[in-house]
Amino acid sequence: MKTSRAVVFEGTGRPFRCETVEIPALHEGEVLVRNEYTTLCRSDLNTFSGKRTEKTPTILGHEVVGRIEELGAGAPSSDCRGTALRVGDRITWAIYAADPSSPLARRGIPQKAPDLFKYGHEQITPTSHLHGGLAGHCLLRRHTPILRLDEGIPLPVAALINCSVATVAGSLRLAGDVRDRNVLVAGAGMLGVIACAMSRCAGANRVIALDIDAERLETARTFGADLPIQTGPGRPSPAAQLADELPDEPVIVALDYSGVPDTMEALIAALGIGGVLVLVGATYPQRPLSLSAEQMVRRLHTIKGLHNYNQTDFVAAVEFIETQHRRFPFEQLVYDRFSLNQVDEAFDYGLKSGAHRVGIRMTDPVP
Ligand SMILES: [Zn+2]
Repeated sequence: MKTSRAVVFEGTGRPFRCETVEIPALHEGEVLVRNEYTTLCRSDLNTFSGKRTEKTPTILGHEVVGRIEELGAGAPSSDCRGTALRVGDRITWAIYAADPSSPLARRGIPQKAPDLFKYGHEQITPTSHLHGGLAGHCLLRRHTPILRLDEGIPLPVAALINCSVATVAGSLRLAGDVRDRNVLVAGAGMLGVIACAMSRCAGANRVIALDIDAERLETARTFGADLPIQTGPGRPSPAAQLADELPDEPVIVALDYSGVPDTMEALIAALGIGGVLVLVGATYPQRPLSLSAEQMVRRLHTIKGLHNYNQTDFVAAVEFIETQHRRFPFEQLVYDRFSLNQVDEAFDYGLKSGAHRVGIRMTDPVP
């Protein structure tokens, strides 16, 4: 019997527990992956700190990349783009497994299908284990979208694809065509800076980054933002700053990754006629937004929400990283110093440092 090791999360305030796990025989359609690299997403940090809850015990980590170690009977012979899958291939996989024939999946929303299985978010049970990134292996279920990756993509960058990059791809899909339009990106964390880069590559006119932190705005600039708007006490409202900077050019697309109600309301105030606002960051309980239906009608505004992403977005994310990973300094966003034996330290660092991402290599020691 082959074994793996898993770093188990048992609840806020408790240290991670390292355990040896027997790798079961693969079920129909399953793929066994040897994890190579995991980045800690903001939702992992929020679960660790108690800002959001997850059923425990669990294995956190869903921004993960690895190599196929075994293909079970009936496992897919090719990936979502039709590329053959073989043992040894480096792959990324969607955060979810969901039956593609369910009504929601057929409407393009597999991430809400009734049989949804979400990597890095599932409880460990006697029949379900090795489903997160903070382990030596991950067992991929049937109906998990898989994509083979170009070996030239650095591991810390490849790990970002299946949460951050794919979610941003989903928000741009909902925003529609950004070519020659001004795009306002709120929250210059990981999703925000990727959104700046993706909007720039999609032909946006001005890419405006909005954040409270000057250093983060500087980072956004290296990812294609060309107008920083700093918010905070004593500063003019974003709408007033935009009216100063762009008196004749309205913002047509606004993307919120901040999840802050005041910021989302400021985006509505800054949105031009016919504008679209996509809300992504508000993934935790908060006060309701205040908005004027009259203004929304008269200004022809559209507001959409996005949680996770679908297979189209996942493919778009891989294609974006394959073609653009050398154009923007993605590697600088990942603090790459921890191994699977140092998960407690990595979470502490992630919470205290303000790093865009903290990475964990499965090899030990970290080279
Ligand atoms: Zn995530």
